[in-house]
Amino acid sequence: MALLPVVTYPDPVLRETSTRVESFDAELAKLAADMAETMYASNGVGLAAPQIGLAKRLIVVDPGSGEEKGKQLMTLVNPEIVESDGIIEYDEGCLSLPNLSVHMTRKGRVKVKAQSASGEAFEVTGEGLLAIVLQHEIDHLNGVLLLDYISPLKRRLVVRDLKELKEQEKGEAS
Ligand code: ZN
Repeated sequence: MALLPVVTYPDPVLRETSTRVESFDAELAKLAADMAETMYASNGVGLAAPQIGLAKRLIVVDPGSGEEKGKQLMTLVNPEIVESDGIIEYDEGCLSLPNLSVHMTRKGRVKVKAQSASGEAFEVTGEGLLAIVLQHEIDHLNGVLLLDYISPLKRRLVVRDLKELKEQEKGEAS
């Protein structure tokens, strides 16, 4: 397994609409495993393929924490929300938007239809943090970011800070 570099805003891949996965081969299984490892190494609860630079409809999630970490890992290929209800509020962050926290209102329960890395169809119903993570990661597959949920004024400030951060990183790397 290997750690993959996580891309950050404003990388254009984060704004793409990801394409459906059609081939369920060894390459896909390895990609899913590497994404899970990358998620854990980044202390994330979810990771979408665009965040490692691939506009494919593939996400990994694990809402567990502490001793539960690693036990609730799920790989969802071509995930689709088929039912949702209720409301939940939570302060969300994103590995692709460093230092940003957005107070979000999401659906409190979602039912998601997906395929496993080997192509088997399944459904999962998530509540609480799992519901939030599923909605957040599926947003990534549609090019939607936390930035899209904040006011235009706040967005301008956040985008400026993110671009400055990226320039600093470039400066340090060269
Ligand atoms: Zn994210």
